[in-house]
Amino acid sequence: MEQNNKLYSIRMRASKNDRHISGAERIVCHNEIQDVSADLITRALTHEIGSPDSIIVTIDTVDAETTHNIITLPFCTVSVSTVKEAHEVASAILEDSGISRKVAERALTILKNGPGEGGTNMRGAIIMDSQTSERLEPDCSRGIRASRMDMTKEARKILMERLAQVGLGKRFKCISESLILASKVVGATETIAELCWSDDPGNVNGYVATKKHGYVRIPHMKEPNLPIGGRVFFVDSDIDLESYISKIEKMTVIVSGVSEVGAEQPLGHILGLSLT
Ligand code: AMP
Repeated sequence: MEQNNKLYSIRMRASKNDRHISGAERIVCHNEIQDVSADLITRALTHEIGSPDSIIVTIDTVDAETTHNIITLPFCTVSVSTVKEAHEVASAILEDSGISRKVAERALTILKNGPGEGGTNMRGAIIMDSQTSERLEPDCSRGIRASRMDMTKEARKILMERLAQVGLGKRFKCISESLILASKVVGATETIAELCWSDDPGNVNGYVATKKHGYVRIPHMKEPNLPIGGRVFFVDSDIDLESYISKIEKMTVIVSGVSEVGAEQPLGHILGLSLT
């Protein structure tokens, strides 16, 4: 390939018996394509769920003219010690951002039971009408995949330093990936909030991200060793669904700045309540 100044989107997905195992992506310069592709393949081959029988790596050019630069949502961790408490906190943050308790609880129940067919994981996210809790994603096992997003090297360095200051340096990889995703998704005008917890058996953490409260990391969103998780994007009732899906899946977003990274704090602080 001829050397040039273009940016490239590299996307990896790995599966076994048609079951999604892992996925990851980057946006890179021409001279980084080979190394980053190799990293993503290594990641596919070493996932804790097991060895894949199919790995697909897609590389295509990104149109620099339609690339958007954004900054991360503000980040903090809320103090919780049980799954019950974690779900109550997630509900409270969603409610404070305009989602009714009934809708928030339905979303939590769907993720708890496994959001895909027969209680499995989905590859992507649920789109949920924030008024009625109706699921709007066209394919309930695939969902929609937030894609074409990355972070600049400078922003990565700053985020790493700030996470280390609050004792989360070791969790940089997993937090940076979900913070990039949440900053893109919640940055879209149509999104009111996002709810997530990991499907990795070894990761019990999740988050709620909203325009009002930023990215609130919530430990204990599920019991240890459970391989079920998912994502819900809460949207306004009157959105243009096709254009929303296209924005989330296709619009290129580069995170080039980092907002505040806060230490662990009680829910009252996050909601701006007096604790007296
Ligand atoms: P993870 O945080 O990678 O364990 O993913 C948790 C769940 O989020 C997965 O089971 C998928 O349902 C969903 N998910 C993962 N990646 C994406 C993505 N890029 N866009 C939308 N949903 C995703």
